[in-house]
Amino acid sequence: MNLILLGPPGAGKGTQAKTLQDRYGIAQISTGDMLRAEVKSGSAIGNEARAIMERGDLVPDAIITAMLALRVQKPDCAGGFILDGFPRTVPQAEALDVMLGEMGLALNHVVELQVDDAALVERIAGRFTCASCGTGYHDRFKPTQQAGVCDVCGSHEFIRRADDKAETVAARLDAYHRQTAPLLPYYQAQGKLRHVDGMADMGSVAKQLAAILDAPASIA
Ligand code: ADP
Ligand code: ADP
Ligand code: ZN
Repeated sequence: MNLILLGPPGAGKGTQAKTLQDRYGIAQISTGDMLRAEVKSGSAIGNEARAIMERGDLVPDAIITAMLALRVQKPDCAGGFILDGFPRTVPQAEALDVMLGEMGLALNHVVELQVDDAALVERIAGRFTCASCGTGYHDRFKPTQQAGVCDVCGSHEFIRRADDKAETVAARLDAYHRQTAPLLPYYQAQGKLRHVDGMADMGSVAKQLAAILDAPASIA
């Protein structure tokens, strides 16, 4: 099964992709995580992407598409993948269609997580992850069980993203509405678009997603 989770920054794509990865045994591909790894390693791609990401703009399509083409060929994608944060522009979606066609693969579902902009600001402002194992948390909606200790690995170190500050969030939301929202009619025209209420709590969003993915009639 190959699917896309679409939705604005902070909608819960990463949170849900992790759950789906475990439930269906398919690989989560987050282009944001891949770019942050490039920035951290100081690679040529990372050096080009850093300032763009800190401004809240989108990294050029050619860079992202080339990165993704290599990623989907890795062995962990053999059983399928969840795209989280890709595609983000119509040219990226067109490149993906070509890429999948060449690989003889189909896109089974495109699911939009619908969340109001006002809620996104709070979700992004409170987001943090474990520096050691990458588990995601939220100050209010998913705090660690014991203050300052990761539930999963016990680490005491956490990371907040440089682009999660209030000044950058407006630019990221603007990029979403201008450049990524046109993907909704794009996939609607392909008959693949489904929606879930992303304002609901995490468990209920996961249930809505499972209902879509498990429904036999929706398999393309
Ligand atoms: P979020 O989870 O908040 O939606 P991501 O981690 O997906 O954010 O992306 C962080 C940043 O990385 C984006 O603001 C953008 O600069 C860059 N980025 C990630 N994926 C893409 C993409 N498919 N195309 C262009 N830029 C991207
Ligand atoms: P995205 O990958 O779409 O940018 P995340 O999955 O990183 O979004 O979620 C953004 C923040 O909101 C995280 O701190 C996460 O713990 C929290 N979050 C995710 N889903 C929900 C939800 N349904 N209700 C409340 N908070 C949520
Ligand atoms: Zn941890």
